[in-house]
Amino acid sequence: MTDPSIISAPSTPFQAVFLDRDGVINEEDGIIQSKEQLRLIPNAGAAIASLNEAGLPVIIITNQPVVARGWCNESELDAIHNHLRELLRPFGASLDAIYYCPHHENANDLTYRMVCECRKPRPGLLKIAAQHFHLDLTRCVFIGDRTVDIQAARSAGTAAWLVRTGFGGQDKKCDATPDSVFDDLQECVTFILKSCPPVPKTPQSRKP
Ligand SMILES: [Mg+2]
Ligand SMILES: [Zn+2]
Repeated sequence: MTDPSIISAPSTPFQAVFLDRDGVINEEDGIIQSKEQLRLIPNAGAAIASLNEAGLPVIIITNQPVVARGWCNESELDAIHNHLRELLRPFGASLDAIYYCPHHENANDLTYRMVCECRKPRPGLLKIAAQHFHLDLTRCVFIGDRTVDIQAARSAGTAAWLVRTGFGGQDKKCDATPDSVFDDLQECVTFILKSCPPVPKTPQSRKP
């Protein structure tokens, strides 16, 4: 069931925008294990600020096997994500939530060694986020730079958009075709907002 309070921009085709992290918001840089590696993709901050202004929840969905590998722990990953939020702040951009999968089937740390439902291309994180935010996944869009993102979107029933930044869909992990392809996040947001005039930001955006 959809919570009508979350739909603050009734003319938008979407209730929320899910974003992959690396290669969509920040530059792809292999395995990111320190905040110094975070560099925003040009215009990503402004693009997210525009979504914020339109009242659309902006939710990151990211695989972080760096935790499973033992290269950084979850509190260090939180610090990386806090730094990402700091990098976005000067643009007036904020993230409504960050969901990550710390698992891997070959993890060094047994705590994280599992075949989970939340590692993309599986749709588990999208489903959890949808529950928390009371979203209809068929009315959301997931923007990613790899075929695992596109496959996760397909499995969850969201629109699947590929950006040419980061891997640009060249990871060859999944045989999944996007609904649309855009140069970057900014171009995606411009397209979304064509049918979604900005409205005052409402105070109801929730953080789990
Ligand atoms: Mg990526
Ligand atoms: Zn997982």
